[in-house]
Amino acid sequence: MKRIVIKVGSHVLTENGAVAKERLLGLVELIVDLEKNGYETILVSSGAVAAGYTQLPLDKGIVANRQALAAIGQPLLLKMYQEKFAKFGMLCSQVLLSADVFENPGHIAHAKAAIDTLLKNKVVPIINENDTVSIEELVFGDNDRLSAHVAHYFDANLLVILSDIDAYYDKDPHKYKDAKQRLVVHEIQEEELHAEHTPNNTFATGGIVTKLQAADFLLKHGRKMFLANGFDLSDVRNFLIENQHKGGTLFVG
Ligand code: ADP
Repeated sequence: MKRIVIKVGSHVLTENGAVAKERLLGLVELIVDLEKNGYETILVSSGAVAAGYTQLPLDKGIVANRQALAAIGQPLLLKMYQEKFAKFGMLCSQVLLSADVFENPGHIAHAKAAIDTLLKNKVVPIINENDTVSIEELVFGDNDRLSAHVAHYFDANLLVILSDIDAYYDKDPHKYKDAKQRLVVHEIQEEELHAEHTPNNTFATGGIVTKLQAADFLLKHGRKMFLANGFDLSDVRNFLIENQHKGGTLFVG
């Protein structure tokens, strides 16, 4: 069995302020197909805040409100996943973690034992940050770094990040028309990791930096990351199921 982690960001999972149900179904179908092809998948899913907002429109600019929305939305999100997985006769499960779990070897061991047991029984663990006790990823990162820790400590060789961007480019493709996709990246430079502090930096702004930090962490631990389009899953399907690397960026040492 090849164990992988798939992380899906809130931009992919939401549309007009609500959970994008068709995309959620597409993601579930991908995980079901991966299972048939010898993969066991741990899913790290954002989207709880958006799911909560559809029930109670609190001001999302306030962190405590986002925590409250996540608490409202998390069970709704899991219910959607459960219904979709049930269509394919599969079970899923909820695992809420905070970053400090990964600082405590005892906690890591307990969490890993639970996740190993779920996977052994073909149950998909769906991980999110426990937003009521830790707000790190809610404020910054959208689970990118959490998912890198999940991949490393729960022994997955590959983290797949499904994003609103289809690859890592040599500069921000939304700002530069001539930006070029990088298919394979072996090493990340120091300035790329801190690019958010320099607004004029052409390497990276916004959400890409936390993805590069996740990739850097995994490369340093001998693991891999694949960044691909979350709206159209053909690149990730080709890469994982057909063994063809047509699009998306592979970070590998
Ligand atoms: P998600 O919500 O899918 O996790 P983000 O929107 O947070 O993703 O981050 C991806 C965004 O980062 C892209 O849409 C793009 O505008 C921006 N970006 C900046 N620099 C780059 C780059 N060098 N390569 C790819 N994307 C970049």
